[in-house]
Amino acid sequence: MFGRRERLETKAPHELRAMRRAGLVVASTLETVTIQAAAGITTGQLDDLARESILGQGARPSFPEVPGYRHTLCVSVNEAVVHGIPGERKLHDGDLVSVDCGAIVDGWHADAAVTFVVGGDEAGSAQDLALNEATRHALWAGIVAFRDGNHVGDIGAAVEESIAQAMQRSSAGLDGRPCAYGIVEGFEGHGIGRAMHMEPGVPNVRVRDRGPRIRVGAAVAIEPMITLGSSDTYDLEDGWTAATVDGSRAAHWEHTVAVTRTGLWVLTALDGGQAELLARGGPFGPLD
Ligand code: MG
Ligand code: MG
Repeated sequence: MFGRRERLETKAPHELRAMRRAGLVVASTLETVTIQAAAGITTGQLDDLARESILGQGARPSFPEVPGYRHTLCVSVNEAVVHGIPGERKLHDGDLVSVDCGAIVDGWHADAAVTFVVGGDEAGSAQDLALNEATRHALWAGIVAFRDGNHVGDIGAAVEESIAQAMQRSSAGLDGRPCAYGIVEGFEGHGIGRAMHMEPGVPNVRVRDRGPRIRVGAAVAIEPMITLGSSDTYDLEDGWTAATVDGSRAAHWEHTVAVTRTGLWVLTALDGGQAELLARGGPFGPLD
């Protein structure tokens, strides 16, 4: 799965601080979008809000740099997993919406995604809420595995293990019905820095080759995509949106994370990851 020469570059502290500035722009933009995503708003309107938020903070949206893509966000609703194109679609209460966002500050990138239920948790089905929590937990399990001395492949093993545990828990909780989550194949996280997508790939499953070693100064985007059924997706006619082949709903969470001398710095979390790392016994290590 890893190319033989895939590298995980390391950044100097001042470079990670620039990525943190980009990360805070992404974090605050995703917070704004989440708050505004009520029933009746269109995904295109959310895209406009995000663009204003990023430009208003003196940054640039990164997704328009992807050839052929002109939007600020990807907004993927219900059975869409990733790369949904913002447009005329109106959101409804109970929709499970994933929003992916990237920004550039001084040439440095940050990339993150969140998933939420329109109308809040009371509007969501038990299955969707459990899926969303399982995906978010899997992201943080992957983050905690991203540490000096581990290998990039260990992130995938941690994500897969977290999802396996969530399946066991959910099967007990959801009316006793068996619960089978799919870890989406064909998409994964990535190195990040001067470009949004860099070596190495960051798997969401256990892989035989553990990949490059993780060192202080490394930065990656970790992004599990989990479904209520199939692991397989197909591309819609728009040429971008990836949707589950069985129509099952999907969740997607992503953070850009750096390793510092003292621990982990979640560059796209408003608090740098402090609360979630503390809850999981992970080392919180922001730079000054
Ligand atoms: Mg992303
Ligand atoms: Mg990404």
